[in-house]
Amino acid sequence: MNNIEQTLSIIKPDAVERNLDNEIKEMFRNNGFSIVKEKKIQIEKSEAENFYKVHETKPFYNDLCAYLSSGPIVTMVLEKENAVLANRKLMGATNPKDAEEGTIRKKYGISIDKNSIHGSDSVENAKIEIDFFFKD
Ligand code: UDP
Ligand code: MG
Repeated sequence: MNNIEQTLSIIKPDAVERNLDNEIKEMFRNNGFSIVKEKKIQIEKSEAENFYKVHETKPFYNDLCAYLSSGPIVTMVLEKENAVLANRKLMGATNPKDAEEGTIRKKYGISIDKNSIHGSDSVENAKIEIDFFFKD
């Protein structure tokens, strides 16, 4: 049986700043994802703090939220069979140094903080994150 899912992806400021958004979107399409919703926005730090609330006790939380709100981002709803896991695979490891060849973070990531892309880590969180950006 097929299991079509949706997941949330964010092209982060380091990649948008380098005009990589179209290349990254092409990578998604070439890997069988449909981009069903998309918008380019800049968020407030307070919104980033909400979005990354699960990380609020981590030492990198403040810098992470400052960074995500530092410039334009492209948020997208991606759809594909088993999209959540497929997207995590295509993104690669959190630290681009550890990311496998052919992944977005290997290709474009600069460092663990400037790692070019966000993707939901579970079906449950995908629903929450899609609502965060696209509830209207
Ligand atoms: N991050 C960081 N330093 C760390 C770990 C994570 O700056 O030591 C940032 C990084 O940008 C990462 C985000 O925090 O993408 C969220 O961390 P998570 O562990 O959820 O990684 P992801 O799900 O993005 O791979
Ligand atoms: Mg995560």
